[in-house]
Amino acid sequence: MSETVVNKAVLDHSEEVSLYESTQSIIREALSHLNGDQALFDLLKEPLRVLTVRIPVKMDDGTVKVFTGYRAQHNDAVGPTKGGIRFHPDVTEEEVKALSIWMSIKCGLANLPYGGGKGGIVCDPRTMSAQELERLSRGYVRAISQIIGPAKDIPAPDVFTNSRIMAWMMDEYSCICEFGSPGVITGKPLAIGGSAGRESSTANGVTIVLNEAAQKIGLPIEGASVIIQGFGNAGSYLAKFLLDAGAKVVGISDASGALYEPEGLDIDLLLTQKDPYGSVTSLYPNRITNQELLVKPCDILIPAAISNQITEENAGDIQAKIVVEAANGPTTLKATELMTERGILLVPDVLASAGGVVVSYFEWVQNNQGYYWTEEMVDERLKQILVSSFEKVYETSLAKGVDMRMAAYIVGLNRLIEAVQLRGWI
Ligand code: GLU
Repeated sequence: MSETVVNKAVLDHSEEVSLYESTQSIIREALSHLNGDQALFDLLKEPLRVLTVRIPVKMDDGTVKVFTGYRAQHNDAVGPTKGGIRFHPDVTEEEVKALSIWMSIKCGLANLPYGGGKGGIVCDPRTMSAQELERLSRGYVRAISQIIGPAKDIPAPDVFTNSRIMAWMMDEYSCICEFGSPGVITGKPLAIGGSAGRESSTANGVTIVLNEAAQKIGLPIEGASVIIQGFGNAGSYLAKFLLDAGAKVVGISDASGALYEPEGLDIDLLLTQKDPYGSVTSLYPNRITNQELLVKPCDILIPAAISNQITEENAGDIQAKIVVEAANGPTTLKATELMTERGILLVPDVLASAGGVVVSYFEWVQNNQGYYWTEEMVDERLKQILVSSFEKVYETSLAKGVDMRMAAYIVGLNRLIEAVQLRGWI
């Protein structure tokens, strides 16, 4: 490593910066704690590879629509790249690139033998038929087939994608390779090489780190009041897990609004009423807005929906003692600072939402070995990994006097830096 240390790390905490810029500034600051030089920053501040593809799809009405997709591979010094594919109208190249960096941090934190990757297609799956989605999924895999593979880059589900889509993608890739290749993608259905426990793994991981955080501040989960923003895969499983653990779920939300009931919501009923995209609140006339929900009284707040929800504007009004980020990027850097100053314990996204990729790793290991584990084995190993990751982040935050997000980046970057040095890249 050259002598120029990145010691002038200036974190731009203005709320104007994009997700990509704020990711780069946090990488820069984390490197300053790790004696990283400018060359290292230049290497890690963006993905090694980004592929943009156009996918023509025959729609059910006979027209052809051309979709745009991306796959970003942040860094493969540690191992193949890994990360989900999102289907969303707001997907951009910048977002996919930022999220690929986050995946490197998640994999580093959990000590998985991967670097980060991410993919996305600009589309609205809520308005597409299953046949159109299948054609789009297969077209995307054909377009990126040369850069993915069980030892290259392993996609998985993300926003608005699911095990069914993973099954089509795995099938398409296997056809291209001319042999069955379950390890090319994770989050598959059980019958074709999925792992026990993958479906609920993100929520399971959030619950594990929440338990650790609650112990640190002496808050019993039993009887604690919880608000969960978002009722999709992570949010809905979480509501159920926390209810089972004796917590009182007082608030939930979806894209159209939020429900808040200080005595506790009827989660079992809401779970039966929600649609596959997590929408349920429109059935209720007494709903409030998402922004109103975030500042309602509760012990634990779990943003499990979209990014940029807790900002400079509302961070001072958050009433929770613990905030656990189940979504990617729900809190801005400035809001992180403000809440940390107020003594709120924040468990950052790269740690709190790592359960998904950890169980994806287990799925890939099982595919490679052809030997499948029980759900108990998955749960136990997930817990081992996340408890130790949480401890490392918590200790680093105390030792270096930094907030939990910065601590997570410091821990997450450590092994990646060692790998690029050992390979002689830097
Ligand atoms: N999309 C999930 C994430 O953002 C899972 C990624 C994976 O399983 O590879 O962590």
